[in-house]
Amino acid sequence: MEAAILSICYLIGSVTFIVGLKMLSHPETARRGNLVSAAGMGIAIAGTLFLYRSEGRHLHNYGWIAGALAIGAIAGTSAARKVKMTAMPQLVSLFNGMGGLCAALISVVEFNRLSNPDPLSLPVASLSAAAVSQGSYSSLHVLIILAGLVIGSVSFAGSMIAFGKLNGGIKDHAFPGQHVANLVVLAAILLLGVFLVRGNVTAPALLFYGTLILSMAYGILFVLPIGGADMPVVISLLNSFTGVATACGGFLYNNPVMLTGGILVGSAGAILTTLMCKAMNRSLKNVLIGSFGSKAASAAGIPGKQGTYKEVGINDAAMVLGYAHKVMIVPGYGLAVAQAQHVCHELEKLLSEKGVVVKYAIHPVAGRMPGHMNVLLAEANVSYDELLETDPANAEFPTTDVVLVLGANDVVNPAAEMDPASPIYGMPILEVGKAKMVIVNKRSMRPGYAGIDNDLFFQPNTSMLFGDAKDVLQQLIAGIKAL
Ligand code: NDP
Repeated sequence: MEAAILSICYLIGSVTFIVGLKMLSHPETARRGNLVSAAGMGIAIAGTLFLYRSEGRHLHNYGWIAGALAIGAIAGTSAARKVKMTAMPQLVSLFNGMGGLCAALISVVEFNRLSNPDPLSLPVASLSAAAVSQGSYSSLHVLIILAGLVIGSVSFAGSMIAFGKLNGGIKDHAFPGQHVANLVVLAAILLLGVFLVRGNVTAPALLFYGTLILSMAYGILFVLPIGGADMPVVISLLNSFTGVATACGGFLYNNPVMLTGGILVGSAGAILTTLMCKAMNRSLKNVLIGSFGSKAASAAGIPGKQGTYKEVGINDAAMVLGYAHKVMIVPGYGLAVAQAQHVCHELEKLLSEKGVVVKYAIHPVAGRMPGHMNVLLAEANVSYDELLETDPANAEFPTTDVVLVLGANDVVNPAAEMDPASPIYGMPILEVGKAKMVIVNKRSMRPGYAGIDNDLFFQPNTSMLFGDAKDVLQQLIAGIKAL
């Protein structure tokens, strides 16, 4: 009976993961989707903790389990509460790294159980039980343990480097022969793996822990040279790795909810990686061995080289916006930094009340995480119907009177279309220059994330409106009200 209830718990867990993931695909349902999946996960955990007893194999060390749950819950909740929206990729990277580490630790525990099976712990997949004897292992079982170990360790070490890079603590490091060195480490991991899977080795523990160390080293070496602006793609890829490593754990424990969760995370991460590469019009190979956003790319831009730029004052900008027929707002990272989403929505409502048609043009990599602008604007209750993706927005720019660029830079940089030498060449951009007038709000002429200059600022139909986005928007609102 209890076994049947446990199966139902796992079924509920698996279904809620799928339903929750589907709900995450729309800003309006995303928050609920998160809760639905978390509730399913809670049911699956509670089921595992309390219902395994009925099978005669009870969990023990409840004190340790409760302690670990409490520490994890407190650390996770306080980190998630405190984190600024702009630092979300770091947090995702950190959480993802912890998932990878857990998957690797499961492999360590299971490896040790091969020679020292503990009758009180969870049952491993049945095929292993018969095969466990001194020095002789079931190849498939060892293969899965190793896959979890290698993929989980790469994900953990890589995520920690990605975290350091996004935090600014770790710089890009590339050295000659880097890719060859990576291939050598990878080949060594595969070789050790082959020895272990074939079995009958004299010092399996030495080879196993050697594989662990090499996998960590590979994770570090693999992420270290990748340019900062490509970190989101890398995090998404590592996220996919963690999913696969978790699925290995699910296979080992014959646990359907862990298997489903791992497969979903693995495939969602892989799909997101592909979509982000597509949004930047780059191949995964180019992301992994290119240097977009690295020091090399940063050196490419020499601020102010292109000529002179025009400035516009608040009153003139307010007048232009207030008397326009159609205005397109282009939010970017600066809007998130200034936390100006609410006041931006206020400006949009004010203009709409005056009969101006207002829409938002959203670039897929604007900000610092996938969907950053959607989340930011949803927080301010901006209607999802007013958000246009790159292609439809580009189709509307030629008929737009004023484009208001708020803290965006790289995503409106024409170098992506015009300059084959530019590190962002080929990335689809928002072609704001096609509108009658462009007002760019930022604080200075400094470059954006990719570290390169932007010709848009020097075009004849562009005017710069300097200042913090929130202050500028508040002044614009006051100016439009006074018209
Ligand atoms: P950018 O980083 O290109 O530019 C942001 C601009 O905002 C800066 O030029 C800055 O100029 C301005 N700014 C900063 N603070 C403020 C403020 N308080 N008020 C007004 N302006 C401000 O941002 P984009 O959104 O255009 O492009 C995103 C970039 O980040 C792309 O290169 C993308 O590849 C990369 N990236 C994207 C991720 C994602 O998943 N979305 C993740 C990580 C990187 P100034 O200092 O002069 O004010």
